[in-house]
Amino acid sequence: MKVRLLHTADVSPGHVRSAFSGLAPPLVPGEAVMFRGSLAACYDRSRAQYDAFSVLEAVPSPEPDWLNLLLVGADLFVPALTYVFGLSHLAGGRGVLSLARLKPPEENDLTETVLEHRLRVEVAHELGHAAGLVHCVVNDCAMHRSLWPESVDLKNPEFCASCRARLPGPG
Ligand SMILES: [Zn+2]
Ligand SMILES: [Zn+2]
Repeated sequence: MKVRLLHTADVSPGHVRSAFSGLAPPLVPGEAVMFRGSLAACYDRSRAQYDAFSVLEAVPSPEPDWLNLLLVGADLFVPALTYVFGLSHLAGGRGVLSLARLKPPEENDLTETVLEHRLRVEVAHELGHAAGLVHCVVNDCAMHRSLWPESVDLKNPEFCASCRARLPGPG
C-alpha cells in the first residue's frame, strides 16, 4: 500500500522525511505533497482547536492501493475528548495526524529523537486505521491505543504479526 503524505505548511520538511522513513511493511512511501486546501472552516473558536472530523473531510479520497494521510501542526479535537493525536476513516484510506500533542509544552526537554519516534508510531497507527485495522491489545504494536504521548513511546512504528496478517500486500 503506497502512502501519500499531505502536509500543511507548518510541518517541517524534516518531520515529513521522518514520517516517511519510518514506514513498515506493507506500507511504502509514495509521495509527499503540500496540502493546498484551507482548514479555516475547521477551526472552532470556542475551543481554540481544529475539529478533527471536519479536517478529515478535507483529506481527499485516495486511488486504489493508496492511503492519504494529512500531517498538520494544528491542534485537533473531537467533541468528547480534550484532544486527539489523529483521526482516520476506518478502511476509508484517509486520515489526519497532528504534531501538536506529540510534543506537549510541559515536555520542553523532549529530544527530537523521541518526537520522531512518536511521529513514526502515530503515522503507522492512523494509516493502519485507514487501511482497516482496529485497536490492538499487543502493547508495542502501532495499533495499540494511546491516550498520552508517553504511552506512544512504548510502541513500535510496526504492526504486530496479527495486525500485519489483516493487511493486504507482501511483507
Ligand atoms: Zn486509534
Ligand atoms: Zn497489533
